[in-house]
Order: sequence, then C-alpha cells, then structure tokens
Amino acid sequence: MLRTAILAAAGHPTVERLVTTASVARNLVSRYVAGDEVDDAVRVSRSLISDGLTVTLDRLGEDTANEADAASTTDGYCALLDALAEAGVAPPAEVSVKLSAVGQRLDPKLATENARKICQAAAGVGTTVTLDMEDHTTTDLTLDTLAVLRADFPSTGAVLQAYLRRTETDCRDLAVSGSRVRLCKGAYAEPESVGFETALDVDRSYVRCLNVLMAGDGYPMLATHDPRLIAIGEERARWYDRTPDSFEFQMLHGVRPDEQRRLARDGYTVRIYLPFGRDWYPYLMRRLAERPAYVALFARSLVSSR
Ligand SMILES: Cc1cc2nc3c(=O)[nH]c(=O)nc-3n(C[C@H](O)[C@H](O)[C@H](O)COP(=O)(O)OP(=O)(O)OC[C@H]3O[C@@H](n4cnc5c(N)ncnc54)[C@H](O)[C@@H]3O)c2cc1C
Repeated sequence: MLRTAILAAAGHPTVERLVTTASVARNLVSRYVAGDEVDDAVRVSRSLISDGLTVTLDRLGEDTANEADAASTTDGYCALLDALAEAGVAPPAEVSVKLSAVGQRLDPKLATENARKICQAAAGVGTTVTLDMEDHTTTDLTLDTLAVLRADFPSTGAVLQAYLRRTETDCRDLAVSGSRVRLCKGAYAEPESVGFETALDVDRSYVRCLNVLMAGDGYPMLATHDPRLIAIGEERARWYDRTPDSFEFQMLHGVRPDEQRRLARDGYTVRIYLPFGRDWYPYLMRRLAERPAYVALFARSLVSSR
C-alpha cells in the first residue's frame, strides 16, 4: 500500500521539484548512483570489478518524449560501451537498457532499431545487453523486441518480474538454451488484475519462477537482496549442479554491499546494477518505495532543510 502511494506521489510535478532540488536527495542518490558522467560509471565499475564483482550499467533516463532524445540515449550507450572497452572492462561489464529510453512509447519499431544499435556496439566490444522490464503495459512489447534482437544477438538478456501473474509462464518460455533471464520481484505499481498483491504472494511466485529457471537450460540471473530468496537460490544451484558460470546473482549498487562481496567470496558470479547520469529521479523514487522506512527519514530531512 505504502509502496503504491509513494510511486503515485512520485508522478506529481510538485513532489518531483521538491525532491530534485533538495541537497538531502543528492546525498541519497550518491548511495545508489555512480555519478553524473561516463567517467564516473567507468571508475566505479573498475572498483567493483577489482572487488571480484561484475557490473551491468544503466544510463539513467526513461520515457523519452521525442526521437532526438531517443537517438541521443542510443549514442550515449554506444559511447559508454566504447569507454568500457577502452578501460579494459567490457566484459565483465555489460549494459542494461530501458526500451522506453530509446523510444518505445513513441514507436516500438524505433525502440527496437535503437536497441539493435546498442546490441551491435556491445557485440563489437565483446559484451552483452539486458533489456530492463518496465510496467506491465510494456511486457509484451518488450518480449517481442527481445525475440527480434535475439535472432541476431542471442545473448541479449530479458527481465521477468515475479509480481506479475503471467511470469511463471514467461519463465517456462524463456528457460531455454542460450537464454539469459534476470528474475526480479518488480518495482512498479501494478493493478491486482495483473499482479500479486501481498509480499508473501510475490515471494512465493519468485520461488516458483526461480525453480523453473534453475531447472531449465538457460542462464538464470537471480536479482534480489532478499536473504531467504538468495538462500533458496544457493540451495537450488546445488540441487541442479549449477556451476558459477551457469547462473548469477544480481544486486543494486548501494544495497547490501557486504552480501554482494560474501557471495563473490563464496565463488558465485555476482553482477551489480550500476546506474549513472543526471536523470535519477524515477530511479531514486523506486528505491525509496522499496524502503518505506527511509521515506519518513527522507521527508523529515526535506522539511528541516527548507
Ligand atoms: C540487478 C537488479 C536489476 C533489476 N531490474 C529491474 C527491472 O528491470 N525491472 C523491475 O521492475 N525491477 C528491477 N529490479 C528491482 C526489483 O524488482 C525490486 O524492486 C528490488 O530488487 C527489491 O526487491 P528485493 O528482491 O531486493 O526484495 P525486498 O523484499 O524489496 O528487499 C529485501 C531486502 O533487501 C534490502 N533492500 C531492498 N531494496 C532496498 C533499497 N532500495 N535500499 C536499501 N535496502 C534495500 C533490504 O534489506 C530488504 O529487506 C532490479 C533489481 C536488481 C537487484
């Protein structure tokens, strides 16, 4: 309930103005985001990689409103991939792309073509792309784009959200050889008609989906910070004889860093989702919605700093 309310408030222009101009927000952003520039993204990637982790980079920005911005986002990703290659970290770094940032809401075909350019640039430097998943109205379009891209770039990764009722079926469809699938709980406000309402139901769905992916022939990417789900992931890896190069754990930059390093020390592949750029507002609000305890603290700091 609180999560939905926070996400709804986040869409209000007054809330956006209040948050984006507050210094307290900037401090919180620095916990989750590498910095404003490509250089920041490369520097933090190097540091994470030197700690035994791998990285997927997100150039912040979504819901692009015109073709010029979609093209500039596409060019930005290609420049990022060049910079990662120059720094000698592409791979183990890859990139995560939101199709809405490259024009999905304007024209799905335009988004597919822009995503194709990014996949080409990624393949050129020996790395991969994962298509982030946004709200449920885009799920079919995003999976259609994935299928088109995978014909030429088979390692393009998908994201499936356990909070959607459809996802167990989508997992069965994608648990096939060569398919990379990130499983997360889901970060948007979804209606009951398509999504599970309680945290318990989402967790149960996550376990069902995890079972399908870990038993299947694809490459599961278990994106969660939830200690119980991580333990179940470790257990299933033993059950299904999954070696560290046949699946991975994923976590967000700034969330449970000790656990990220513990998993890496234990021999697992761990990939950190690392955003960078100036357009951090929607990303920060989704992170706040996941931690309602922070919201009261954050709101108090906002008021006292005015
Ligand atoms: C690598 C990665 C990629 C993702 N990609 C997508 C995507 O494409 N589409 C999408 O809808 N969602 C995406 N998500 C977000 C995901 O859907 C969840 O909203 C988010 O991961 C929180 O769920 P959880 O599984 O960690 O469980 P939760 O039950 O939310 O959290 C478990 C524990 O983790 C810690 N924690 C979780 N979130 C935070 C936070 N923000 N700050 C501090 N501590 C926290 C807390 O200790 C919490 O008790 C991604 C998540 C990850 C890790």
